[in-house]
Amino acid sequence: MRIDIVSIFPEYLAALDLSLVGKARVAGLLDLRVHDLRDWTTDRHRTVDDTPFGGGAGMVMRPDVWGQAIDELTATGPAHLVVPTPSGATFTQRTAEALATEDQLVFACGRYEGIDARVAEHYRAAGHRVSELSIGDYVLNGGEVASLVMVEAVARLLPGVIGNPESLVEESHGAAGLLEYPVYTKPPVWSDLEVPDVLLSGHHAKIRRWRRDRALEKTSARRPDLIAALDASTLDKHDRAF
Ligand code: SAM
Repeated sequence: MRIDIVSIFPEYLAALDLSLVGKARVAGLLDLRVHDLRDWTTDRHRTVDDTPFGGGAGMVMRPDVWGQAIDELTATGPAHLVVPTPSGATFTQRTAEALATEDQLVFACGRYEGIDARVAEHYRAAGHRVSELSIGDYVLNGGEVASLVMVEAVARLLPGVIGNPESLVEESHGAAGLLEYPVYTKPPVWSDLEVPDVLLSGHHAKIRRWRRDRALEKTSARRPDLIAALDASTLDKHDRAF
């Protein structure tokens, strides 16, 4: 997959050189390129924003500069344009799964009061998929952190990025629709707290059942909305007790 991220603060995206995403880039599993929006400006001051039509506070990012950038980055064919915005649809694990199937994603990191609304409208009309996405109900200063969140969630789903793909199967927000069960490691006793006996038993069926029960318990307590959304036909008699 190719991912292009455009920002006026490209240094913000340096974290994408680290950890699993960084390794995936080095291994050629992910072609990730970070760009400075100001490289597409034409004036001496490298201007990317202007005052809002209709008045009001703040500045708005100019569509002509964004247009130059996106046209160049999508010159070989339509890409999926992701515009982070607090007024977008909420980004979820399902969104990450859908984006992970794309050939090219272009992230447009807004600043100030955001990007002129005609940018999303124009690229939709031109046949690109455009997703205006929010990472939660709060307001950040720019789209860089939101893009980091989304790129990491997408990249870890690409084949070969996570060493053991089993890790993806049982985790929170996965196919089971539950939050993950509590996890433990050595030492078996720490601060007078013991690891549950069953996990030391070596009895795989019992461990599976214990983990599912704890996942159901945790999900009921923290996210009853997820329990309500479970497909009843996937639940056994034991599950229904929760
Ligand atoms: N005036 C905008 C509004 O009220 O919807 C907020 C603009 S915000 C200060 C600047 C930029 O930060 C946005 O264009 C977007 O790129 C990013 N941003 C802020 N909060 C976000 C969120 N919750 N999810 C995704 N992006 C966000």
